[in-house]
Amino acid sequence: MTMLESPASKHIALVAHDHRKEPLLRWVERHRDQLGHHRLYATGTTGRLIRERLGLEVLCLESGPLGGDQQIGARIAEGEVDCLVFFWDPLEAQPHDPDIKALLRLAAVWNIPVACNEATADFLVSAPQMEAAYQREVPQFSGYRRRLPE
Ligand code: PGA
Repeated sequence: MTMLESPASKHIALVAHDHRKEPLLRWVERHRDQLGHHRLYATGTTGRLIRERLGLEVLCLESGPLGGDQQIGARIAEGEVDCLVFFWDPLEAQPHDPDIKALLRLAAVWNIPVACNEATADFLVSAPQMEAAYQREVPQFSGYRRRLPE
């Protein structure tokens, strides 16, 4: 195992599917003061709505179906994203379902906290680890990187 540090000021990625955007916006509004201390990333439409409606600074990536989920996944793999708040829609298939699965997989690989609904997101932001540096344990992938195909 190796330890990776998430700093006190976190990089938080926010993503919401269309039917889940209003709940995400309400959640962001409820926690806007706290979220303002952190750096926010979002997929295109989610980020634009947060910026326009709530006036928070957000780094907007591409829209999810156009590659935004994959951009967030790449940032997780590069150690740039510390938390993921992803309100995915449990009632509707999405055109980019493989990208959604890939994003959730990378969050699991790199051991970053993920909230998929309001209750978990409330727990996440009220955790003491949110406002302090946090050492997260990830496997040493060096053996995996050196492996040879059978
Ligand atoms: P959007 O993407 O914020 O651009 O709507 C979200 C998603 O569907 O992944």
